[in-house]
Amino acid sequence: MTFDAVALEIGTVRLADLQATGVRDDEVAVVLLTDGGNEHRAIVSTTDKASGRGVHRAMRCPRCGKPAGVLRHHEGVLQCARCWPHRTSQQRQSNLAWWRRDGGRQTDQLLRLALGRHRPGRLEKMQALADELVLADEQRLSTLLPHIGTALDGGVPVMADVESVLAIGVQEP
Ligand SMILES: [Zn+2]
Repeated sequence: MTFDAVALEIGTVRLADLQATGVRDDEVAVVLLTDGGNEHRAIVSTTDKASGRGVHRAMRCPRCGKPAGVLRHHEGVLQCARCWPHRTSQQRQSNLAWWRRDGGRQTDQLLRLALGRHRPGRLEKMQALADELVLADEQRLSTLLPHIGTALDGGVPVMADVESVLAIGVQEP
């Protein structure tokens, strides 16, 4: 079986994935990666959806048949938010330590910007988030270095500062 569209986000098919292919058929063969890391192939139908003053294309939920802009893989089937209410990464993870302390929020925002539409200032926001993540990593590393030195008990030379560690990181192939 061949496919027409590849979904970029794990477990999720967005209308933009279908539109990006340029395929204008009423049925599009889609392949995506599921949360479990398996490949899922499906035929996604499109339909017209009345919206505001006009009509636009939407995917048809394989489960309920209603129009949807996003379909998510759950229990072996793609389904819309009405059939399977989905919580965002922020809703699921904002209570976790890594979200607050280790850049979870910035990572999530960066991913959503990367997958989203191109809007003015998007690249600048992505750069700022990436800078924030790198800076926080460097700060964590500089906090850890003395502990690493203590743990190794002087038996192995330990880099004295973050710049030395980063320089070695850059030299690696
Ligand atoms: Zn549905």
